[in-house]
Amino acid sequence: MNPAGKPGKTGSLMPVEVALARLLEMADTSRIIERECLPLAQVEGRVLADDLVSTLDLPPWPNSAMDGYALHVADWTGEPMVVSQKIFAGQAPEPLKMGTCARIFTGAPVPAGADCVEMQENAEVQADERVRFTGPLSLGQNIRPQGQETTVGELILPAGTRLGPIEQGLAASLGCAELDVTRKVRVAVLSTGDELIEPGQSLGPGQIYNSNRVLLCSWLQRLGCEVIDAGIVPDDLETTRVRLGDLKNVDLILSTGGVSVGEADFLGIALREEGELSLWKLAIKPGKPLTFGHFRGVPVIGLPGNPASTLVTFALLARPYILRRQGVKQVEPLKVQVPAGFDWPIAGNRREYLRGRLENGQAIIYKNQSSGVLRSAAWADGLVEVLENRTLVAGGHVYFIPLSEVLD
Ligand code: AMP
Ligand code: MG
Repeated sequence: MNPAGKPGKTGSLMPVEVALARLLEMADTSRIIERECLPLAQVEGRVLADDLVSTLDLPPWPNSAMDGYALHVADWTGEPMVVSQKIFAGQAPEPLKMGTCARIFTGAPVPAGADCVEMQENAEVQADERVRFTGPLSLGQNIRPQGQETTVGELILPAGTRLGPIEQGLAASLGCAELDVTRKVRVAVLSTGDELIEPGQSLGPGQIYNSNRVLLCSWLQRLGCEVIDAGIVPDDLETTRVRLGDLKNVDLILSTGGVSVGEADFLGIALREEGELSLWKLAIKPGKPLTFGHFRGVPVIGLPGNPASTLVTFALLARPYILRRQGVKQVEPLKVQVPAGFDWPIAGNRREYLRGRLENGQAIIYKNQSSGVLRSAAWADGLVEVLENRTLVAGGHVYFIPLSEVLD
């Protein structure tokens, strides 16, 4: 048994982290460098090309965190104070008259000369409209100082950040109307297999519907890729060669199927003839066979065809590779350690990514973990990682990778 987190022996199989490191190294050397400038509203899902540095102090001036009264603490004698001005958000106040206070609302600039805001709940308006303060008053109270969030010149988002609603909001708060992002990675998706037909057609003998195509095309779109749907390629060398050759102007060819041991591997032959090929046997389950190579200079990743294998190898290997090509630094999903709600009596020589859920704080797994069963993943909320060469009794720790971490 291995302590959690340490990779075990995998014999001639390549450990998952070795495969990932190799893929990321190759992705680093072929990073997309072209960029485009987009309006802020259109950058969702894209990757920041340059560091975003603040050209502003945020907030630009001290402002009130409360509805209440601004005053100079040293002027307060305990007697009611005259209210000398009223300041709403969006207004430019007069300097505070000595010995008075100002009515102020949340977000309004604190007038020069004031060093404290007392909230209205601690203020009593007298019959003569002067205001008595009931609570203790302290310097800086309820004032959001200038530059509290950001000061001019501060690095706000590093290049390589994936942009989403929060980053868009942050950039807007700094006044950015547009941002430079890397151009989308262009990924061609092809599904290999004589047995495949598309949904909508009637099934003939021996045929199955192509599920990987739509799964990968949708997923890639979520990752901010430009997807070229290259359809189904039959198990035939000449067609494979021609169809690969048709894929012009793409950054990656992503295929599924045809990489299992013992099968006529036409993708592999085509790559060997017109590029280069590495066939990896990974210590991963579902998964194991994975092809990486080049066809006429274009990188190719060949994932195993079983839908759950496609899903797991895409999530853990192809996704980080694609994001890194896009310039993303943080490409690996977060995983959390949780107690297992199941026994794992027989150690395997491959790292398992079981489709599972968290229930009452424990990881439970779908009843059928066959690599052909995509339903397991639809039932699941995440992948439960069980290390190679390891047995487990319920209560022992496993890692859980939420599917939401890898789906976009
Ligand atoms: P392969 O990797 O080509 O040996 O395929 C392994 C298994 O996955 C076989 O049962 C295939 O029929 C199945 N498979 C391959 N590609 C797809 C696909 N695009 N959609 C659904 N199942 C597939
Ligand atoms: Mg096949």
